Amino acid sequence: SKLKEGLNKTRKGITDKIDDLFNNYGEIDDELFDELEEILIMADVGMSTSMKLIEKLREELKVRKIKDSSEIKAVFKDVVKMILNENNNVPFAVGDEPTIIMVIGVNGVGKTTSIGKIAHSLKSEGKKVLIAAGDTFRAAAIDQLMIWGERVGVGVIHQSEGSDPAAVIFDAVQAAKARKVDVLICDTAGRLHNKVNLMNELAKVFRVIEREYPEAKKEVLLVLDATTGQNAVQQAKVFNEAAEISGIVLTKLDGTAKGGVVLAINSELNIPVKLIGVGEGIEDLQRFDAHDFVEALLN
Ligand code: GDP
Repeated sequence: SKLKEGLNKTRKGITDKIDDLFNNYGEIDDELFDELEEILIMADVGMSTSMKLIEKLREELKVRKIKDSSEIKAVFKDVVKMILNENNNVPFAVGDEPTIIMVIGVNGVGKTTSIGKIAHSLKSEGKKVLIAAGDTFRAAAIDQLMIWGERVGVGVIHQSEGSDPAAVIFDAVQAAKARKVDVLICDTAGRLHNKVNLMNELAKVFRVIEREYPEAKKEVLLVLDATTGQNAVQQAKVFNEAAEISGIVLTKLDGTAKGGVVLAINSELNIPVKLIGVGEGIEDLQRFDAHDFVEALLN
């Protein structure tokens, strides 16, 4: 499958090593868990999540009275699924009520591309979609979004570079209401070098949306680049202080051997990963499903 293919690098980084360990180790002892922990940390699962995972694995192996390493794999998969499902991992979906999706994240993580792909996916489901070019700091971001809009057949509300993002969002919300749009997807500025500024700007945009369209359902998606590993976790922590994030879009999983960061984000931040990027194609942004992910990664 495309998912399995997209995870090829991570499969080499984690799965091959885990299989080698489980298949050849023999009787289970403490050293086996040390070796497993090392593999997980190398794959950016993160220290605390790796420790939690191994603790759960030890418990499960005891309960199921498993003594030989060759029998660990199935239990390991169950434990990974358990961890991924801990924070009510509801799949990404837009219901019948009007919805506003705010997309936040630093420049370069794949924010523009993800907005285009989400717009395409929702439109394919029959939703009426509109995009707001709220990153007015970058002319390129506005241009890129307009190209995506044409490509997927979705309108893009925009103003010129340097205009007030809150004014763009205000316009977009009015247009969304007037055109009876199902989903308004809003791009936002992605400069992280001035944290206070960024937070103020996001807060202002959120206020406009809440004031102008209180009845719309709100979703705040944070886009993170999987190839940045633990840095992505740090970015999420910063943004989490500025906004109530409802889900993560984790891009470029196809470009990293450290896809274990999915677990770190889910578990350390308690924010569900909702969409994952496994390639550059328009269909390559997939809804995240813990079961499918674990089966594609560890089989
Ligand atoms: P932005 O600055 O955050 O808006 O980033 P862009 O949307 O312009 O994306 C930056 C680059 O990352 C582009 O070349 C995208 O094609 C690429 N990209 C985005 N998502 C993925 C993904 O899931 N896999 C791969 N391989 N590339 C991606």
